[in-house]
Amino acid sequence: MKKDFNYNFHTHTYRCGHASYEKEEEYINKFIKNGFKIVGFSDHMPLPKEEFPQEKSRMYINEKKDYISKLKRLKKQYKSLDILIGFECEYDKMYDKHLMNLKDNSDYLILGQHFIKGINPIGNINYPILYANSVCEALDTGLFSYIAHPDVYLKYRETIEKSDYDKYICNCKNAAEIICKKAKKLNIPLEINLTFKNNIKIMNDNSYPYPHRLFFDIAKKLNNTFVIGVDAHSKNVIDKYNDSTKSILKDLDIYKNIILDYNPLLYKNNIMEKKYKIFKKNIQSYEYNYIKKLSKNIKYNDEVSIKKIIKEDIASTNKKYIKIVSSLKKEIDELNNTIMDISLKSKKISRKKEYIRYCNESYKHRLKMLNKIYKKIMHIKVDNKIIKNLLKFYSKDK
Ligand SMILES: [Zn+2]
Ligand SMILES: [Zn+2]
Repeated sequence: MKKDFNYNFHTHTYRCGHASYEKEEEYINKFIKNGFKIVGFSDHMPLPKEEFPQEKSRMYINEKKDYISKLKRLKKQYKSLDILIGFECEYDKMYDKHLMNLKDNSDYLILGQHFIKGINPIGNINYPILYANSVCEALDTGLFSYIAHPDVYLKYRETIEKSDYDKYICNCKNAAEIICKKAKKLNIPLEINLTFKNNIKIMNDNSYPYPHRLFFDIAKKLNNTFVIGVDAHSKNVIDKYNDSTKSILKDLDIYKNIILDYNPLLYKNNIMEKKYKIFKKNIQSYEYNYIKKLSKNIKYNDEVSIKKIIKEDIASTNKKYIKIVSSLKKEIDELNNTIMDISLKSKKISRKKEYIRYCNESYKHRLKMLNKIYKKIMHIKVDNKIIKNLLKFYSKDK
């Protein structure tokens, strides 16, 4: 069967907690059967240890090693298919060092900015602009090869009040323009994501949550380049690739600037390489960025105010820990009482048990970090230069 495209760099594995329990080999066999020449796995990135694991969204950081070594093994084993190892990542300044490690230990990263921490997208007419700005901030690091579902912000469109809708659509268009212009300037392709085409989810306006014409009409006008991404969370969607791609391109009326032989390793991008070098030079640890963020939240740069914020964080860490662990335990109980395939059930239960352990690990790690900063304040307080001195202490140049 002749294929127009034979790549896909957006593939997940069971480790993310919301994909099918299928082995990587099962995906690979499907890719081969469908005539693919090169593919990449890009599972949802783990969070750094300082943050609680998210059992339904991503692997835990300890699973990264197994993910990479398994794919390395398969890379050698399969001769007829090139396999790349990647991650789909949300960008957050706190993760700079963590993201650098992910990039340097894999073949490529794609930006999948599914949320902005601390911002509620529901009914929020400003969300598209905030989203666009966060994408630009992410791209400026030079970390990413392409933007996955660059119009993902549009999936909240049905939560907007009728009276706000015109203003909201205007913001959506402006957001699209901000993202497309930035991507164009940095020579970054935009992904046409097949998730909802393959799984047939249509919203009230008779189109998919994404990709959406509102965004892609602007991208076309600005002459952006496009790649196709299956966003596979199960092997069977791979069979639909060819038909879905043809049909989605028709829906979006896109016939130009589609990269037919995309490969993130060969797609030379001098601008991004330069940016990544600068990013690496200025990289700081999680703790450093934590303190920097803290300095934005305090009114007074004095011992009492800073200690108060850290104490509050310790209290909320305790609360969060109890909440996550108790909900995992409840889910285990529920699973135990559910009738389903025995082996699937035991896989699900053992994963949740593992995550309770991971929760413990992250909890200890975060508390240790917070207590260390708390104690440090007493030793380095010089009038109101606390934050400055803390930053100096945590700076990589120290
Ligand atoms: Zn996913
Ligand atoms: Zn994805």
